[in-house]
Amino acid sequence: MSPGRPVLPGADKVRRTLTDEASVPPSSAPTREASTAPNGTDVAACGATSATSGLVPLVIHRRDPKPDDVEIDIEFCGLCHSDVHATRGEWGERPWPLVPGHEIVGRVSRVGVDVLGFAVGDRVGVGCMVDSCRECENCLDGVEQYCERGMVGTYGAADPRNGGELTQGGYSQRIVVTEKFVLRIPEALDPAAAAPLLCAGITTYSPLRYFGVEPGERVGVVGLGGLGHMAVRLAKAMGAEVTVFTRSDAKSGAARELGADAVIVTSDPEQLAAARRTLDLVIDTVAAPHDVNDYLRTLRLDGALFQLSLPSGQMAPVDPGLLIRRRLTYAGSLIGGIAETQEMLDFCAEHGVVSDIELVAADGLNEAYDRMVAGDVKYRFVLDTATLAAGTGSAQAGEGQA
Ligand SMILES: [Zn+2]
Ligand SMILES: [Zn+2]
Repeated sequence: MSPGRPVLPGADKVRRTLTDEASVPPSSAPTREASTAPNGTDVAACGATSATSGLVPLVIHRRDPKPDDVEIDIEFCGLCHSDVHATRGEWGERPWPLVPGHEIVGRVSRVGVDVLGFAVGDRVGVGCMVDSCRECENCLDGVEQYCERGMVGTYGAADPRNGGELTQGGYSQRIVVTEKFVLRIPEALDPAAAAPLLCAGITTYSPLRYFGVEPGERVGVVGLGGLGHMAVRLAKAMGAEVTVFTRSDAKSGAARELGADAVIVTSDPEQLAAARRTLDLVIDTVAAPHDVNDYLRTLRLDGALFQLSLPSGQMAPVDPGLLIRRRLTYAGSLIGGIAETQEMLDFCAEHGVVSDIELVAADGLNEAYDRMVAGDVKYRFVLDTATLAAGTGSAQAGEGQA
């Protein structure tokens, strides 16, 4: 709506403070006025101050809404594996403090004067990005996640339209985001269970749509975590027949509860062999190094395998013979554009698709991270941000993590 809008004076001078104290809660007096003062608000948050700090209570600064901004009082924020990697420094050194969280759901508390699509009180969401260049070919095509100049991540990214300020994510009481990157959350969706749709949901929806899954087609899902369980539900809602690949028989029941039509235990070579040339599409959500050739063999002519997680180590090379002999595609995919994310949310409302979640309080975040790493969650933790103000506990909350 407003490419090239000048950065307001003072936007680069916002304060960011750290404190052991619970913070000032956000004011609850909504107004349509967009302030031009560099005042903003201080809000309670949880984040990391170093790669070994764990998550500790923080106070961060949020700008007042600029003319095209929407201010959101956050209700819920999903916990994504990326959050763990980022706050533990596993994806390289980054500026601290870092408040993670990119599965954000809340209510609009203020809007800038130029905002047309949202009003105070609307339920809205923010996913993995809060801006992009809005000018490159990919942005103009509505695939902002592939912005040639790099999307502006919801946390840990320099935000060019706001003086290069470091973005801070959804483990906080409030966020201010340009209208273009705010999603509408249909009221039919439970807001806490809808939060994971904004990363895990769109990450799996986008390749299913890109492939053009049709009713009756056969979709395989590798891994049954936060991404995998969404892939099963979304593919079923699109009318596909879904096969879940899991390492042990222990998850068979859970896979069928989610709607899977078949389960293949990959530790059993006979089951894998029996699945050869049976599927049209494989959604591979496993982040640990693994042999994708096992799954390429399950594809029929013109099938495709989409790899969605970034493995932490070397993988076995893909056998080109497998690709050639059945014209297979070995592909990757990164979240989805803003328009597609809105389409996904509306699709989920229509089909009653949400994530299975476990609500977690602010003082339980570090334990939740450990359980995520251990695979001990069905299937997504969601932070209840109402616990941030009163219940962030002591500044030692993160000690003992390393
Ligand atoms: Zn994520
Ligand atoms: Zn761009």
